[in-house]
Amino acid sequence: MSAAETAQVIRDAGLRATKPRVLIYGILQETGGHRTADEVTGLVLESGRRLPRASVYNVLDDLSRVDLVMRADRGPGTAIYEVADTWHHHFVCRTCGDVTDVPCVIGSKPCLDADVPGAVVDEAQIIFRGTCASCADSP
Ligand SMILES: [Zn+2]
Ligand SMILES: [Zn+2]
Repeated sequence: MSAAETAQVIRDAGLRATKPRVLIYGILQETGGHRTADEVTGLVLESGRRLPRASVYNVLDDLSRVDLVMRADRGPGTAIYEVADTWHHHFVCRTCGDVTDVPCVIGSKPCLDADVPGAVVDEAQIIFRGTCASCADSP
């Protein structure tokens, strides 16, 4: 996707296509997979730009608010971000921290009902935890 196309996707989602947003959305798309905000900050640096960590956080926040980027919690204090076409869940290995996508049977959010009187639930995300295949293989 070119920078112009990336900018258009961001505008279509209802955001202004600022340079940091175009840059970070482009990076997440190119690299694929799950990235922490720190990793994204590093990738921005590698691309020859420099963005303060706070700006990276803000951009990731903006992009996940309009569902261009999906955010999941990997563990205490670590959120991961990714560009994903379908709503899904995650399995996180307790040993190596590896993150694996887990398909959602519903495929869109909210995929679970919560019994919270008066509240409007718009998202339910499940984090499965345990030992991944390769860690289970190597005791
Ligand atoms: Zn593992
Ligand atoms: Zn994922």
